[in-house]
Amino acid sequence: MFGLSMAAGLLVTLKNLTKKPFTVQYPEERVKQHPRFRGEEFVWYEERCTGCASCAKYCPLGIIKIETSPSETLPQQGDKYRLEVFDIQIFRCMFCGLCVEACPYDALFMGSGFEQGQYSRKEMVIGIDDLRHADKKPSTYLRPQLESANYDPRSGKPLDWKDVGRESWDWHLKEKAGMRLARPTPPDYAGGPQAQEESNTSERTGGETKFGGPA
Ligand code: SF4
Ligand code: SF4
Repeated sequence: MFGLSMAAGLLVTLKNLTKKPFTVQYPEERVKQHPRFRGEEFVWYEERCTGCASCAKYCPLGIIKIETSPSETLPQQGDKYRLEVFDIQIFRCMFCGLCVEACPYDALFMGSGFEQGQYSRKEMVIGIDDLRHADKKPSTYLRPQLESANYDPRSGKPLDWKDVGRESWDWHLKEKAGMRLARPTPPDYAGGPQAQEESNTSERTGGETKFGGPA
């Protein structure tokens, strides 16, 4: 009946009049963000990045550009490429997180920001220097090691590259021995990569590295 439907509609209005509003007066007021929020300020740890470009290959929109050159350190196990370009066109990013999921070395994390609006598209490209100097407060999205440590990127302190991986720092120290890092060689690994290098003949040609067999 016409009258009954009107009363039912009014009842809904009255019910909602007494409810506490869910809306907040942004930007003065803000709701609490989940630590797993997928924000636009990517957090990248150059020390962990090998330049494998898996993140760029997995991005469904192809908006990550990576250019590398051969590293000057040992081109053997644990070596990495030197990163020359690492651009992310965030004006096209849909924050799916696939690039983060694809990174095998826990070098790339989603950020927790959402206020980087600009008037020009050019200004919405994150370059390698922006990534280098950005606050290291990674989102815990797809990083259970951060979640189990109850890390909150909004209130927590910036994290060092040694603290964000799934593997322990000791493991990293050994496995990434070819990385150009200012750190002491662990005693149980002394001579490891060096000894290996001496047993191989290496020759660099035009950016390519060839290895001969053991002498
Ligand atoms: S979040 Fe998704 S769209 Fe954005 S850069 Fe990563 S893979 Fe590409
Ligand atoms: S961020 Fe990760 S996936 Fe991307 S190049 Fe570096 S190591 Fe590879």
